[in-house]
Order: sequence, then C-alpha cells, then structure tokens
Amino acid sequence: MMERRSAILQSLPVLLLALGCGSTVSAQDSDLDPQITKLVATISDERLGVILKKLESFETRSTLSSTTSTTRGIGAARQWILDEMKSYSPRLQVSFDTYQVVPQGRITRDVELRNVMAILPGRSPRRIYVSGHYDTLARPGGQGSSNAGAAAPAADPDARPAPAADPNAPLDNLAPGVNDDGSGTALTIELARVFSQSGIDFDATLVFMCHVGEEQGLVGARLHAQKAVAQKIPIEAVLNNDIVGNDRGGNGIIDGATIRVYAEGPEDSPSRELARFVQRWGARYVPSHKIRPMARPDRFGRGGDHSAYNALGFTAVGFRESRENFTRQHDVRDTYEGISLPYLAQNARVNAAAAATLALAPPPPGVLGERNQPMITRAPSGYDANLTWTATAGAAAYRIFWREAWGNDWQQDVRVGNITSIILPNMQIDDYVFGVAAIDAGGHESFVTAYVTPPRTSSDIKIKPGT
Ligand SMILES: [Zn+2]
Repeated sequence: MMERRSAILQSLPVLLLALGCGSTVSAQDSDLDPQITKLVATISDERLGVILKKLESFETRSTLSSTTSTTRGIGAARQWILDEMKSYSPRLQVSFDTYQVVPQGRITRDVELRNVMAILPGRSPRRIYVSGHYDTLARPGGQGSSNAGAAAPAADPDARPAPAADPNAPLDNLAPGVNDDGSGTALTIELARVFSQSGIDFDATLVFMCHVGEEQGLVGARLHAQKAVAQKIPIEAVLNNDIVGNDRGGNGIIDGATIRVYAEGPEDSPSRELARFVQRWGARYVPSHKIRPMARPDRFGRGGDHSAYNALGFTAVGFRESRENFTRQHDVRDTYEGISLPYLAQNARVNAAAAATLALAPPPPGVLGERNQPMITRAPSGYDANLTWTATAGAAAYRIFWREAWGNDWQQDVRVGNITSIILPNMQIDDYVFGVAAIDAGGHESFVTAYVTPPRTSSDIKIKPGT
C-alpha cells in the first residue's frame, strides 16, 4: 500500500502570508540552480553560427534529395550531423533512427528516412526530447505566395507537388532551409553539446532529435512516435523547435526578445502544462526573453513535429519565432542572412533551462484514481478542497497550484512537504482549477498535473419505436 500522509491547511491566508507567497510570478534567485545557470550560459552564438553555415553548405536537405554525394544533399547532411554530435562526448549515444518508407502522400518514391538521434542517458529511462527537423523544402514562390493567397503555384502549402518525369529521380533543387529548420536543428545540436559536456547527473534521459521528412507531413516524427508507442518508450515531454532563428517579420516588425510556444488543448492538457512550465522556468533563467504560450496546436494552416507526438498521446509543444518572414520560408531565400544568432541563442537558452529543470526534477505526480477520475473531493466539510496525488519517485516536496476556473495561468501556489494529500478549507473546488507538481531535494520542479474531469461520453436516449 502506498503511504498516505496528509496535511490540513487550517488557515490558508495566514499560511500563505507566513510563507511569503501567494503569487507564482515573482522569480526568486534562490530558485535557481547554479548548475543550470552555468549550462545556459555555455550556449554559444558562435557555435550556432558555425552549425548553420555547415547546414547551408549542403545546398539542399530535402528528404527526397541525393544520398550519394559527400558534400551535397540529405545523405551528406545526416552523416555530418551524426559525426558532429558523436564528437561532443562519449556519454552521448548517437545513431540513425532509420525507416524504409514506401510511396504515400508527399513521399513520391521508396525512400530511406533517417532521423538523427543523440541520447544522453539519465538515472531513469523517462525521456525529455529537444528536437528540430533537418530536412528542407523550396518551391517556386515559397511560403510567401502561399500565405498571400496567390493563385500560382499553389495556394495550399501542403499540396502534393506535380509528379516528376522520373519519380525515382532525386529532388535536388536548391533548398537551403537555414531557418526552416536549420535553426531548430542547430539549437538541438548545440544543446546536445552543452548538456553532454555539462557533467550534470540528470535523472531523466535526454534525447536530442533531428527529425527528417517533416516537410512531407511530419513523417520522421510520426515514425518515431509510432515506435515509441509500440516499444513503450516513456517520452515525458517534447520541446520541438521549428523556425526559431529570425527576429525580423516580413511586415517590418522586429522582435528579438520573444518566443511563442504552441500547445494543444484542452485547457489543462499536459502539453498546456508543459507550455506553462516553459514560461515559468524559462523566465527565471532567461529573464530578458519573453515567453508567450499559445493555447492552440500551431499557427493557421501550418504544422510541426510536436503535433506528431500529440497525435499519439505524448506531451509536446512547438517553439516558433515571434515574427515570421514568410517570403524566406520554403524558398531559396531561406539563407544564413535571415538569421539573428543572438535571438536563436536566447531561444536555445530557454529550451536548455526548461529541459534541464525537467530532467533534474522528479516526474510529475499522478492525480487520477482507479476509475480515471481526478482525486479531488469536497471532504470533510463538503465545502473544502481535498486533493490527493500519487507519490513520485525522488520527490522531497510538492507544490500545489490553483487559479480561478476562468483564468489562464496559475495564480497562487504553495509549497508543501513530502505528503500525498491536502485539505484547503473552504475552497470550493467548482470555482478553481487545482494542480500539483513534484519537487526534489534540490528544488527542481516538475511540470504541473491538473485536476480535470475527463470529458463525458454521450449516448443516445432510447425512445419508444414508432413515436
Ligand atoms: Zn519547418
């Protein structure tokens, strides 16, 4: 039997006053782990620039491009990414994640797809992913003409291209893809370097994943997510980065201090909690960078690899630059000149702070009972908030969060000891959303698990036949 220890907060306002809390927004220096501060500071603008220039040098990284050259096309690119990550540390396990794919959708011929994956083993098998996609796409008019609703070549950005004369011929047209998604790829590779060289003993296993086939319909990510389901690989969170290196919008608006984080609903889904976590912890380690969670899966008509993980039940969010320049995307103009290295580096630091905190923290607690109902009641008075959660391995304390049921982000929180239930007197559970996070002895906090009622299933009411 699980040990049940509980506490009653006799007077919540007094307790909150005594703890000096009652707001989640203020950053406390004492919250910061000097190891993470150091790791975040190790991210190098210069290194990111070197990686991006190398990725650009392959001229195309189209999933359907040539694999025979050692200097051009996707075969050369994936080999370089593999070798580069292998060079960082003997602790990194770097490999191709390979699939033989038959023609379907926008995959026009038999093709071997290889995600490039670097695993930094932790003390436990649960996995935190940082990802981007290294494949590229360029077509006449690019994303700019698609977005402007131009009649030609295709208003639908996902339209299948006209079949080539020889369907087996490699697609070798120039497609530099330095921002889409060299930026997310360079960020992922740079984080593989700083994490593997940090000497930090992480609890979670970190995975630095460069996906392929994204431009054909998230194919590499979908294949890997499928494999994770089949092999029961415990993916706890995916931080996906796609188009994160440009700070100048095509409309002239410049913003080098903001990043968007897209997260699918419903409102207290694990992905939304992950986005709130990124905002909370990213802001502490990178206070000059504004993190804007977006309560939607992605931008209108656009997609990204995080959605491939969401579709199979995994927790995943998508990072997107604040102001996009559509005329450079999916176009030969997506070159190094369109990148702001300081901006990309700040986005990398936010990812690093979030991934490191998650990987050092215990896994988030469970709040569902045997019948998949949230373990929240009005007992004992009938007017209290009575919360129970499942003990998490490695937790030394927990933090209870709540907000008005109409609110967007947590408004109040209180840290409690190593207990698994609590009573908040006279708090009507119908008026608030509650959540709980696990904290280890070093103060590293998981993302929040919220108490939400699963959607009701509907069944037809039977009526008398013939009436
Ligand atoms: Zn992309």
